[in-house]
Amino acid sequence: MSFWDVPGVKAGVITGDAAWGLLKHAKDNGYAIPAFNCTSTSTINSVLEAGKKLGRPVIIQFSEGGAAFMAGKSLPNEKGVLQASILGAIAGAQFARAVAPAYGIPVLVHSDHCAKKLLPWFDGMLEADEAYFKLYGEPLFSSHMLDLSEEPDEENIAICQKYLKRMAPMKCILEMEIGITGGVEDGVDNSGAAKEKLYSTPEDVYAVYTGLSPISEMFTIAAAFGNVHGVYKAGNVVLRPELLGEFQAYASKKVGSQNPLFFVFHGGSGSEKHHITTALGNGVVKMNVDTDTQWAYWSGLKNFYQAKSGYLQGQIGNPEGADKPNKSYYDPRKWIRESETSMVKRVQESCTDLGNHNFVTPKRKPIVGGNWKCNPECSSKLDGLVKNINACDASLCDVYVCPSTIHVTEVIPKISNAAKVCPQNCNFKGCGAYTGEMAVEQMKDLGLQWVMIGHSERREYCEEDDTLLATKLKYILDAGMKCIFCIGEKLPEREKGLEATMAVCISQLEQVKGMLDPVNVVIAYEPVWAIGTGVTATAAQAQETHAAIRKWIAANVSAECAAGIRIQYGGSANAKNAPELSACPDIDGFLVGGASLKPEFAEIVDAIVAEKWGKK
Ligand SMILES: [Zn+2]
Repeated sequence: MSFWDVPGVKAGVITGDAAWGLLKHAKDNGYAIPAFNCTSTSTINSVLEAGKKLGRPVIIQFSEGGAAFMAGKSLPNEKGVLQASILGAIAGAQFARAVAPAYGIPVLVHSDHCAKKLLPWFDGMLEADEAYFKLYGEPLFSSHMLDLSEEPDEENIAICQKYLKRMAPMKCILEMEIGITGGVEDGVDNSGAAKEKLYSTPEDVYAVYTGLSPISEMFTIAAAFGNVHGVYKAGNVVLRPELLGEFQAYASKKVGSQNPLFFVFHGGSGSEKHHITTALGNGVVKMNVDTDTQWAYWSGLKNFYQAKSGYLQGQIGNPEGADKPNKSYYDPRKWIRESETSMVKRVQESCTDLGNHNFVTPKRKPIVGGNWKCNPECSSKLDGLVKNINACDASLCDVYVCPSTIHVTEVIPKISNAAKVCPQNCNFKGCGAYTGEMAVEQMKDLGLQWVMIGHSERREYCEEDDTLLATKLKYILDAGMKCIFCIGEKLPEREKGLEATMAVCISQLEQVKGMLDPVNVVIAYEPVWAIGTGVTATAAQAQETHAAIRKWIAANVSAECAAGIRIQYGGSANAKNAPELSACPDIDGFLVGGASLKPEFAEIVDAIVAEKWGKK
């Protein structure tokens, strides 16, 4: 059953039974709807545009500070009154209501964290809901959040009860927080919160259920499981989404029905995908996204300015001539649009991460890498090359780029989509007396997650052998990094047929077979004879070898590993041959050489996405 079949769901803002039915549909179908903090019509439109592109529901939300910004920073917003925050939230909701139907998707409008001192804001929004309800039989907003998590639990729940009683007749949904989301958001600083408050207990969470469910079923819980607002370097707080499963199990036993709780995931920016998957499996129906889209909005403008700075220094005069006008560059519609386009991509990525998409998820997510080898010869050319990587839609395909080691730190901040930077090599041991090498620890310090080893050119010119590469792989995995592990045969073996080809591949895999796992290792198979020689392997030849490698892994590692591990094809893929190669069932992606230096790289990504993701 599609979400469109939920009674009452329509294009535009939905509330009451339709909104609650949609959240139930999400829970039953293992996806969550992302909620994006919006501060302007521009960011609202970006969220709606992404939702329209995917044909999926989205949630627009306003924080107290964001709502005041929406109304205008110059307006008075006194403590205890918060008139601008009230006005801005109402204006934002009205704007969303006006334009959302034109985007053709269902939209929930929500207000974010409301602490005790901000309750006048909550009261003001509820008054607007009640007035709207009188006129149209539904509240203005779909839902609101109360965050009394800093207060003692009994007081927290008592205040939630009081407000839920007021919201229930309008069928307005309440989100509440128990335990504390760490970090800083919208001026509320929880970075010093006691550690035990960062993890809820099954009893804490069940107390919310017993307190609220007699009033209305329409409430969701932002329980704490080590989540933190904002993106920071990995610290000592560990995200434990499996706790949500424990809360569900405890409540299930007490209530006598399966997974009765609806959870909201706060502070999920920068979360690893497997944590999100665990959260979805445990009843998370909404996930807040703010920091990541803030960065996307900013980086769209940053990239525009960097690319066009010569046109943005005065009203007249640019690199094309001292008297050329620059109006078409500084018009806000030009540069704000760059921010929007960047944010739209990030919103789509969040939707995809949360399973909020209309595709049949492939068994193995495609992965395409661009290996720049020892190019370009000057760093001034990096912007042009990075453009090809940033042009890729990295939401349905893992994309990575392997720059020259000397360019890695320069490339990292230039990436504006979800593509990962992946060095072409690493040493076999940590830092120390290893001249000319780079250590995995140094890569981790730069925030890198992936590294490639065993490329045919390293095997050929640097005489890296299977034993050394096995040592390197162990070192990489022990350090918690992921690896692209390259293998492949040369022309004399290929000429002898599949058996001789496989003998080479097997000899290259034999020493690492105990380390192969679908999460942390990707195999890149290179028919070395077909790289840069003009001789191309046919799609049938490529598929035959990939299938044989997978079969060998099934027999020598495990059936699960064989079914899950991704095998990239590294035989000179380009925009022309990518569709045919992508159609091969055992080809999960490409390691692209020459074509990764050109705009056609994005077409290769599109080709494999089109082939591997089926439309529902
Ligand atoms: Zn939050």
